[in-house]
Amino acid sequence: MRAVQLVEWGEPPELRDVPVPEPGPGQVLVKVGGAGACHSDLHIMDAPGPPPAFTTPLPFTLGHENAGWVERAGPGVTGFAPGDAVIVYGPWGCGLCADCREGRENYCRTSGGQGGGLGGGYDGGMAEYLLVPSSRFLIPLGTLDPRQAAPLSDAGLTSYHAVRRSLHLLGPGSTAVVIGAGGLGQMAVQLLRALSSATTIVAVDTDAGKLDTARRMGADETLLSGDQAVTRIRDMTGQHGAELVLDMVGLDPTLRMAAQVARVLGHLTVVGLGGGALPVDFASPPHECAVAAPYWGSIPELMDVVTLAQQQKVRLLVEHFPLERAPEAYQLLRTGKIQGRAVITPHG
Ligand code: NAD
Ligand code: ZN
Ligand code: ZN
Repeated sequence: MRAVQLVEWGEPPELRDVPVPEPGPGQVLVKVGGAGACHSDLHIMDAPGPPPAFTTPLPFTLGHENAGWVERAGPGVTGFAPGDAVIVYGPWGCGLCADCREGRENYCRTSGGQGGGLGGGYDGGMAEYLLVPSSRFLIPLGTLDPRQAAPLSDAGLTSYHAVRRSLHLLGPGSTAVVIGAGGLGQMAVQLLRALSSATTIVAVDTDAGKLDTARRMGADETLLSGDQAVTRIRDMTGQHGAELVLDMVGLDPTLRMAAQVARVLGHLTVVGLGGGALPVDFASPPHECAVAAPYWGSIPELMDVVTLAQQQKVRLLVEHFPLERAPEAYQLLRTGKIQGRAVITPHG
């Protein structure tokens, strides 16, 4: 089969021929319907060498945002039949530690919840087939099309987890700011709209097109990134700042902006892996503003995201590419030309 593989650190990925994996006991082979191109893949392929705790040897298949159809189940697998549409939970844990048993395999105490194409020793899903190490990582999609649904497993799940932990702050009169309205940010805007009807949602981006999309998806206010956005958000909130600031970029300037627009007792949540740092001193971020950098989400949360998509409360703008155009899709993502999510469809 064909697979999009990282062959050298710091080099673009290559389309290569590799064997179709055979599912062992408890494992499932998924025919990939859609594999999302996440900005994290760019961070991975740009890295000069393996990030800390990265155990997958080169070459490996990229892609950690996958959905498809069950192709073949290994011995002992029950509950799934060939042809079932499924979405793949990405952070693969041990399944046995206390966090995994709560469904939080993203915080597995053994593996750190690193999954396919992300350094946990397995190949990812930017290929014709994906070997999933356990059926517990598969969530039925029902009537959702895997080619549309794939981004729910990361852009959707990560944003859902990041929004959900702050929902108690988002009552009437509250403000939520989303910095970076790309794949994740657009999901965050829709999830905020679906889960908190009272909060005022502000989207901030450097790209006017992304801001138009964010407004269509439920943002009340859209602002170009920079000092004028800080002034506007502070004015909107009576100089208090926003209850929740989600930084989906994570560069020095966006983190600085996040600290300037967050409020006392608020949440400043860093989701973007831009490599910036957030200075912390007595005055900034504001007093008792909690800073967290969440990683992905839990299995029950992915089930929630699938339900929200089935109810048509979240829908990502998806642009489809055949497998051989995956390197081009990544290049378009890098240059900000993907309006929502690029999804590779290996089977058309
Ligand atoms: P994307 O490329 O689709 O979106 C990024 C958006 O940020 C774009 O719309 C871009 O115009 C905007 N942007 C860039 N610079 C900006 C600035 N200075 N101010 C405001 N907006 C700016 O990327 P994505 O796939 O949505 O991923 C976003 C980030 O989240 C990446 O860093 C990715 O690695 C990270 N990520 C983290 C997790 C996690 O578990 N924490 C999971 C998935 C992705
Ligand atoms: Zn990702
Ligand atoms: Zn575990």
